[in-house]
Amino acid sequence: MNDFGLLPMRFDDLGLAPDLLRAIADQGYAEPTPIQAQAIPIVLAGQDLMGGAQTGTGKTAAFTLPLLQRILPFASASPSPARHPVRVLMLAPTRELAIQVHESVRGYSKYVPLRSACVYGGVDIKPQIAEIRLGVEVLVATPGRLLDLIEQRCLNFGSVQALVLDEADRMLDMGFIPDVTRIINLLPQQRQSLLFSATFSEEIKKLADRMLKSPVLIEVARRNTVSETITHRVHPVAAEAKRALLVKLLRSSDFNQVLVFTRTKIETNKLARELQRAGIAADSIHGDKSQQERLKALEAFKDGSVLVLVATDVAARGLDIDELPHVINFELPRTPEDYIHRIGRTGRAGKPGTAVSLVSASEVPYLVDIEKLIRIQVEQIVVPGFEPEDDYTYPPGGERRRRQPAAAPAPPAPLATARSERTQFRAEQREAASRPGISRRPHHIAADGFDFSKPYESADPHPVATPADGNAAKGIARVEQPHKPRRPLAALLGGLGRK
Ligand code: AMP
Repeated sequence: MNDFGLLPMRFDDLGLAPDLLRAIADQGYAEPTPIQAQAIPIVLAGQDLMGGAQTGTGKTAAFTLPLLQRILPFASASPSPARHPVRVLMLAPTRELAIQVHESVRGYSKYVPLRSACVYGGVDIKPQIAEIRLGVEVLVATPGRLLDLIEQRCLNFGSVQALVLDEADRMLDMGFIPDVTRIINLLPQQRQSLLFSATFSEEIKKLADRMLKSPVLIEVARRNTVSETITHRVHPVAAEAKRALLVKLLRSSDFNQVLVFTRTKIETNKLARELQRAGIAADSIHGDKSQQERLKALEAFKDGSVLVLVATDVAARGLDIDELPHVINFELPRTPEDYIHRIGRTGRAGKPGTAVSLVSASEVPYLVDIEKLIRIQVEQIVVPGFEPEDDYTYPPGGERRRRQPAAAPAPPAPLATARSERTQFRAEQREAASRPGISRRPHHIAADGFDFSKPYESADPHPVATPADGNAAKGIARVEQPHKPRRPLAALLGGLGRK
């Protein structure tokens, strides 16, 4: 068995062209991941595909390699732009993801005469227009910038043979579906379409119905599951002691690269500054930063000069950092699926990872929602000197940790939270809308009816704790039982980085 739970299979068995196999060998991939083994033959056969795959599963190569092969017969060494029309269009929700997908396209197409380009907002449009006018077969784009380019009349979609919609669920979250629909309407009816999404809500299924023809459905992980190579841990801690605990964790463990999540941009900046003051090489990444600043922070993080990157959910989406071993949730997300997206940065392609969450009393209800979604009861460990508030009660309403008849933990207030999340998305969209020539960017989330305040509907009405790994299992009494946070072990902090 390989790391991904499949019998060994070779890229050579998938019917890919020798020049693509050479490029794969250069990447150092020993064997296809499950999504690659399943999707490549389907895409090569020209079928539509609906792929249920999280980031980290190797999905980019799963769609890029066979699509490159399908357009290979049209590859031309001619310098004439007319010989290089757009044949494959790949849409990604964020600039970071678009850049990442394009890097993959370039890597896999290095030995074939196919041209590719990547276009995204927040940077000067003119160089992108110039590049497109030279002719490109594969265009990777964020929806907003693509519409800008369409308005500038520098794109012709008459030769588009295939469309890829990557991270469709995040497209929906960010309110991009109207833009995507507009783009789809400009493409030839006769085309191959592939849609990838980590989760499949009713809205995504509706979009797939409109976009795909008799698609083959491939799911490499169960809906809303997390990578089995990730160890989850909760440190119950009073809200005001979180910063000090974070500094202690970062100092005491052999962390090399840590992505720290906060809920708001303001908190992101503040926390990064405080970590810097504590002598920790930290930076932040969020939607208010310019594209240059974001790329600079990401590069510094990748090359190791910044050890801790503090990020918001939206900004972190699509970050591909090889072998990122640790994610710390400084604050829990209010939408449980965002927990899965956050920790999708670690444990990628079968590698081990650790997801640590600092949880204060008022966040326990969010923890409960997350545990229901991922079907794991997460081990809770109190770090000495960083105890939670007296009214930290798990599960909410339980009696085990309540030291005094205190008020119940703050209710989750889903509507208020949904509003603040919308505000954050809106701010990102305002940034997009501030680009010249855009009047049709959606100014509000849920233009297509998506409602963040909706409670999560589990696929299983009675979720059972099914630990994904031995470490999580240690923390499990039984899901139905009140769960007392475990007392600390002396070796705990030192061991964190090696889990
Ligand atoms: P993705 O899910 O496409 O974002 O890919 C996640 C990571 O897995 C990227 O860093 C890829 O370079 C890596 N990857 C993709 N395919 C393979 C493979 N067959 N073997 C090992 N790593 C891979």
